[in-house]
Amino acid sequence: MKKLVCAGEILVEIMAERIGQSFLAPGPLVGPFPSGAPAIFIDQAARLGQPAGLIAAVGDDDFGHLNIERLRADGADISAIKVHRGAATGTAFVTYETDGSRHFVYNIKQSAAGLIEIGAEARALLAGADHFHVMGTSLFSPEVIEVARNGIETVKARGGTVSFDPNIRKEMLDLPGLRDALHFVLSKTDVFLPSGPELFIFAKAADEENAAREMLDRGISTVVVKKGAQGAVHYDQTGRTASPGFVVDEIDPTGAGDCFAAAFVSFWLRAEAPEKALRIANSCGALAVTKKGPMEGIASLAAVEAFLATAKTGAP
Ligand code: ADP
Repeated sequence: MKKLVCAGEILVEIMAERIGQSFLAPGPLVGPFPSGAPAIFIDQAARLGQPAGLIAAVGDDDFGHLNIERLRADGADISAIKVHRGAATGTAFVTYETDGSRHFVYNIKQSAAGLIEIGAEARALLAGADHFHVMGTSLFSPEVIEVARNGIETVKARGGTVSFDPNIRKEMLDLPGLRDALHFVLSKTDVFLPSGPELFIFAKAADEENAAREMLDRGISTVVVKKGAQGAVHYDQTGRTASPGFVVDEIDPTGAGDCFAAAFVSFWLRAEAPEKALRIANSCGALAVTKKGPMEGIASLAAVEAFLATAKTGAP
């Protein structure tokens, strides 16, 4: 089976217990939950049985070990996660506003996550990789951009493939080196996985189908637009395939896009038809939102199949 690798931040998420709870006053918290988009992605792929490894850095503290143990237990290759003495694992404190939006207090750039590098273990992991997945959130400094560039080049030189989930907001585009990095990543991307409105940061066309076609014309082979509860739409040279989302009670949306992407890419690497890859990916995204904590809803292939036996789709 093809092995996929991702590189980037590992952190823990600590959540305000009540909706609308402010961090400007003491209050009850829940967590720590293992987190970090690349960790969520790799954990979900491993739970689906795909060989998957992560290049990352954590502190030699409980938060770092919590993440490593979860990834190890779920079958991920943790050989290239470096544990740094004297650095702290990153944190994200999250509170949900009454309108459904999220408010974050982050410490990621200054945490051990910023110490990520291509060392001997990362080189060994990449030497056996068939696919590299890039996330926009992991391009927050010139050092981490360099790691992504190295991963892409190594995997492409071996005849492998690249997927890209931009997960980017317009205001991030002014980060040093980010525009150039995005240009480079897109020029190497085989599978592009934007969330609905993100597509229009990269394409000029004003409607989704033409924007997706514009991306295909740049040499990307597959575009999958994620649409939250509505599911996802897939575009390639043969046409358009829409796949509705599944009806679930949304408790916490963090991580859904990463679970969706991991499942889609895993089944794309298995050369499954778009309909099947989308159905599994929509299940993983739906199950992800049913639990508090970004990695708590991650499902095994057996759990996905059990869910699909009774799941109902919503309106596309
Ligand atoms: P992102 O987190 O990257 O913005 P989305 O919010 O579009 O991505 O979610 C990714 C996928 O997760 C969706 O395409 C869908 O399959 C699933 N999903 C997300 N939210 C829900 C929901 N409320 N109900 C069912 N499925 C969901």
